[in-house]
Amino acid sequence: MHKFFSFHGGIHPPENKKQSTRAPIRPAPLPEKLIVPLQQHIGAPAKPCVNTGEHVLKGQVIAKAQGRISVAVHAPSSGHIIDIAPQAVPHPSGLAAPCITIATDGQDEWIPHQGLENYRALPKPELIDYIRDHGIAGMGGAGFPTDVKLHLGDDHIVNTLIINAAECEPYITADDMLIRERADQIVSGIEIINHLLQPSHIMIGIEDNKAHAIRVLEEALRGTDLNIDIMVVPTKYPSGGEKQLIKLLTNVEVPSGRIPADVGIVCQNIGTVAAIHQAVYEGKPLISRIVTVTGEAVSKPQNLEALVGTPFSVLLETSGINRPQLSRLVMGGPMMGFTIEDENIPVIKTSNCIIAATLQEMPPAPPAQACIRCGMCEQVCPAELLPQQLHWFAKSREFEKAKHHNLFDCIECGACSYVCPSNIPLVQYYRFAKQEIRAEEAEQRKAEQSRIRFEARQARLEQEKIEKELRRKERAEQAAKAQAEKKISAEKTSVTPDNHTQPAAPDIKQLKTAAAVARTKLKKAQQALKNATEKGQEGTQVLQATVADLERKANEAQLAFEKADSGAPTSGTASALLSGLTEDVEKAKRTLEKAETALQAAIANNSPAVEKMRAGVDKLRAKYDESLETLQQAQSNTTVTVTEAIDLKALKQQVSIMRTKLKKAEKSLAEIAEGDALYRELEEEIKRLQERHDEAKARLDEAEAIKSKEAQAQGIDLKKLKIDAALARAAVTKAERAIKKAQENDGEDLAQLQAELVAAEQQANQLNQTLSQFE
Ligand code: SF4
Ligand code: SF4
Repeated sequence: MHKFFSFHGGIHPPENKKQSTRAPIRPAPLPEKLIVPLQQHIGAPAKPCVNTGEHVLKGQVIAKAQGRISVAVHAPSSGHIIDIAPQAVPHPSGLAAPCITIATDGQDEWIPHQGLENYRALPKPELIDYIRDHGIAGMGGAGFPTDVKLHLGDDHIVNTLIINAAECEPYITADDMLIRERADQIVSGIEIINHLLQPSHIMIGIEDNKAHAIRVLEEALRGTDLNIDIMVVPTKYPSGGEKQLIKLLTNVEVPSGRIPADVGIVCQNIGTVAAIHQAVYEGKPLISRIVTVTGEAVSKPQNLEALVGTPFSVLLETSGINRPQLSRLVMGGPMMGFTIEDENIPVIKTSNCIIAATLQEMPPAPPAQACIRCGMCEQVCPAELLPQQLHWFAKSREFEKAKHHNLFDCIECGACSYVCPSNIPLVQYYRFAKQEIRAEEAEQRKAEQSRIRFEARQARLEQEKIEKELRRKERAEQAAKAQAEKKISAEKTSVTPDNHTQPAAPDIKQLKTAAAVARTKLKKAQQALKNATEKGQEGTQVLQATVADLERKANEAQLAFEKADSGAPTSGTASALLSGLTEDVEKAKRTLEKAETALQAAIANNSPAVEKMRAGVDKLRAKYDESLETLQQAQSNTTVTVTEAIDLKALKQQVSIMRTKLKKAEKSLAEIAEGDALYRELEEEIKRLQERHDEAKARLDEAEAIKSKEAQAQGIDLKKLKIDAALARAAVTKAERAIKKAQENDGEDLAQLQAELVAAEQQANQLNQTLSQFE
């Protein structure tokens, strides 16, 4: 037999266990209604996956696990979902919690289910998920999801597996009866956990008041090749506390605030082990458990296998409740359990006992007296705390101090209250203090989450700002690219008169010149027609046609000019006019050539019309010469007017205005949220302004390029010219200062200085004048 150790404190209250072990485990009757809480475990509540009115089968998942620490919930029997709403649940607070209520159909019809053929063939994570999906949670304590204890991660190495069969609390015999009747399931469950955790040693901790169960266990374990020891420990309350059992069996103390896995130990309740067997071998989820129904107010104290969700009243009726005798109904044991008022509270996965106590059995606690500092509480405390100190801190709401005195190591075993001669309800004080601290911590967490959310929002806004800026830069780059392309295109088209591509924009001065030229030509043609008519010359029809043609063109040119001058769009352009004039020249040339050919033929044939034809040819040549001269004049005028028309100052001003407007709009956009109604409107406005700015900038660049070309054509280096002009202006200022100084000091060289100033001013004026042609 393996050696066992001891833990500090502990008490020996009356056991009261024999009453409920006389009869075998019996199935509890199927109730009409099953009330299944969504949270029967520590962690996140399961999420319903069924709707009211839906028919469900026994074992069907009705709520799915949510998050890492959670387990699924299954229908304990077949029937219809009649409600999904908060109901009274077994909890010391007495508060309601969400439950799924099933109206059973009496068929108790199972969903198709079967166990795993060979669980060892399954990858371990899948086997652990399988256990989680079958709703297995700790059945002996707070209901910690079992899969979490089976999947501890690489940072935990499990040396020892402890199966907790101590069941130290008075009255409760559910585990004792389970061992007596289902030891084979327990051994099988241990084998599954052994496969998953691979501990080097397994111990079953059981108190020496369960001789029958110990014998059965020993029998069941015979023949197994597990490295397992049954550790029979002396009966002492609370040897079933996790940390206390670990100390008893291994002499290892789990440090404050740590879990057993931190010291290489995993504890599993013996009921949970049997549930794992049922899930793996039979495919049955955790939908029922053994509940001890005892106390002097029931005539048949016993252990019932009850479906989860069964109201306590059903179990009490089955056990022969004597209501007149019933004084107090306790869920759990007399030490750690709590009084319940509502008999309709349902059985959950952790409900191990219901005590229907008479007044004599559990009389009301006498009034509490002042603490006499006897120290008895400290002597029995299994967690080696200072219960009287904790009591003071809780009473005076000094929660921080209570925390520093390891309040949260208190397992609420009630040993201190049990021995307190002043009848102080110490555990109630600890529960109150823990509740207050948890509420405060929850508040702090909430505040912290709000802070994190706020900072995340700020970061998001900052990110959006950066992205906006990037988008703006991208737009600017695209605009610059488009502008560069326009510039290249403009260079190809705008100042080359013999290129017939249309320039970017109409030029008023250019159109004005073209209209004037057309009028001049018209006048000349009219004069020629008048002279010919007066002199009675032949060929006036040709002149008349020319006048008519020129009249039309003059009107078109005048119209184009007037439209451009009034701001209306125009189709007439310098290039178009030049093109028209070129056509005139070509036409005149063709007519002349035809007439010359005809004259040659007439001469060759000695025709009497030779002279007449010669005069006609002369006129046509004059017309051709005239059209050619007009074209050349227009070409020359066009080049001049294009450059003269450019108002760089106005263009610069326009670009500057557009840039300012754009920046203002972008600033406004940055100050409003993306979801705002104005946001999209402002974005459109920015897009429009950006386009207008880019157009203005393109016109300015084009104009500057033209000016620069013109300067180059005249042999002027614009950059040098600007520097020279600046230097000349500086020389003027310098000369003025020198004169002023000389005047103040009565300098003799004043005349010389004035002469220098005049020369500097002349130089500056000359340079500025030249520069002004290009700026
Ligand atoms: S047992 Fe009761 S009276 Fe004694 S020290 Fe503890 S709290 Fe005080
Ligand atoms: S209830 Fe807490 S303080 Fe009291 S004996 Fe138990 S562990 Fe110690």
